Amino acid sequence: LRNLADDGSLQHLSLNTATVRRQADLLAIVEAAKRHGISSLSPWRDQVEAVGLKRAVDAVRGAGFRLSGYCRGGMFPTDTELRADMLDDNRRAIDEAAALGAPCLVLVVGGLPQFSRPGSSPSNDIGEARDQVEDAIGALLNDAMVARVPLAIEPLHPMYAADRACVNTLGQALDICEALDPDGRHRLGVVIDVYHVWWDPNVHAGIERAGKGGRIHAFHISDWLVPTRDLLLDRGMMGDGIIEIRKLRGAVEAQGFFGPCEVELFSNDWWARPIDEVLSTMIERYRTVC
Ligand code: ZN
Repeated sequence: LRNLADDGSLQHLSLNTATVRRQADLLAIVEAAKRHGISSLSPWRDQVEAVGLKRAVDAVRGAGFRLSGYCRGGMFPTDTELRADMLDDNRRAIDEAAALGAPCLVLVVGGLPQFSRPGSSPSNDIGEARDQVEDAIGALLNDAMVARVPLAIEPLHPMYAADRACVNTLGQALDICEALDPDGRHRLGVVIDVYHVWWDPNVHAGIERAGKGGRIHAFHISDWLVPTRDLLLDRGMMGDGIIEIRKLRGAVEAQGFFGPCEVELFSNDWWARPIDEVLSTMIERYRTVC
């Protein structure tokens, strides 16, 4: 298996800016990343909004950074009355991604409507939520194509099915891609995040299927800690947990995906450390265990 980390450079490493969101704003994160020789980022909408889109674009471009994605669109399930607002919100996310030059808009699709869009009526109908996800992505495909921003569905670990994403496996995400964009004309694809898919007995079949369809838009890495102390905010640094990161990366690269490895941690532990410590640890682990 090829492994791009083996070339010793950091050109295939990207920093998802949520990883250091508590330590600094987006402009300071860009500066810190530059200090460490990182040249690829994936920012979050709220971090862009906090500094203003224009300043974010200037900072990213001025530093010569490439983006590996933009986080995030989605949160689709909602009451009918709120659906137009939800779609508008997603169209703004597409426009922001285009302004930033992002290669894809990451979709965290949402779970039950009351958790996806505040103000929606409570429902336990996860099947209906899944139908709404597919319907909303279908409604946004043309906007995304016009803006030249491919949509990338990120399946999330099933522990988030109620509140964050009712798409939980690569197979499920690819079913949606193939139903809505059978010939790949709209470049609808997936994000493969090892934290979310490592456990799936069909993960390697899913990676192969995604690769064959040209649908791999991004590859996210972190690690699964045992025990995991918090469902959302206890992701591990690569090497501290049990995910076969190198094997999964090799599988993705065997499918011809050579975009960066994007490090994405939500961790109370790592958020409490100095930004330079987080980045230097991340680089060291990228070189040794990814
Ligand atoms: Zn991710």
